[in-house]
Amino acid sequence: MIYLNGKFTPIEEALIPVLDRGFIFGDGVYEVIPVYSRHPFRLQEHLQRLQNSLMSIRLENPHSEDQWRTIIGQVIDLNETDDQSIYLQVTRGVAKRDHAFPVDSVPTVLVTSNPLNPPRDEQLQKGVSAITATDNRWLRCDVKSTALLPNVLLRQLAADAGCVETILLRDGQLTEGSASNVFVVKSGIVLTLAKSNLILPGITYDVVLELVQANGIAHELRSVAKTELDDADEIWITSSSKEILPVTTLDGSPVGKGKPGPVFQRLHELYQSYKAQVMRAPGQ
Ligand code: PMP
Repeated sequence: MIYLNGKFTPIEEALIPVLDRGFIFGDGVYEVIPVYSRHPFRLQEHLQRLQNSLMSIRLENPHSEDQWRTIIGQVIDLNETDDQSIYLQVTRGVAKRDHAFPVDSVPTVLVTSNPLNPPRDEQLQKGVSAITATDNRWLRCDVKSTALLPNVLLRQLAADAGCVETILLRDGQLTEGSASNVFVVKSGIVLTLAKSNLILPGITYDVVLELVQANGIAHELRSVAKTELDDADEIWITSSSKEILPVTTLDGSPVGKGKPGPVFQRLHELYQSYKAQVMRAPGQ
């Protein structure tokens, strides 16, 4: 069951007009929110990022935070599995095709649910493979836009190579993955770049940095060169669906010892216990 513009319907019956600007221009923004045991994880932060994305594309938020919480709660209730992945999308609505904003269009609001697919045990135990590629996206990667063609093409490079993710480099410096943030460990220090217009401010990125800080793990927020990726002891990718996933092969070569490292193991445990703690005290 999904939510579309005020109505709950089976997904097979939901239809969008062909002139929706999301379809025509990719003129919209979205969020993906993991749900554990029917509790949305970090909902407030996801709704704040949605608000930021909407402001960046000059689209008024069609709902208050309370309304969003209600709609999302209803979609969770209407679907069977306890662990879900909520997908939420807002577009600039339906209008005659013209690039400039339509006057008085009503935003299209879609909320869907899928069963959550956390990383498989094998992926956590062995790690995954990634490749690198040039980051050829626009300069507003902080906006969670539905216009994802560059990300789609970049991720396909990984799929073609039998890899899980494409790690992106702009001017020889790490930015992020095609659908994830990236962390590097060198000599026990966790490295990642600070938030900017060049990366999506990941909700999982924030959780990882909070855990690193709270547990006194050495870390630095700074740019990371391709040479440091090649020389890394550990590389991880993070996202709401992947959580923290170790990359053990990069461009066909082993990362560090070629297996998930000790700092990853520590963060993985911290992340799982943080999740369990938050789920025991929902409403956060
Ligand atoms: N960067 C990009 C480009 C992404 O698509 C995602 C996943 N939505 C992320 C980073 C990770 O963000 P989050 O931790 O909020 O899922």
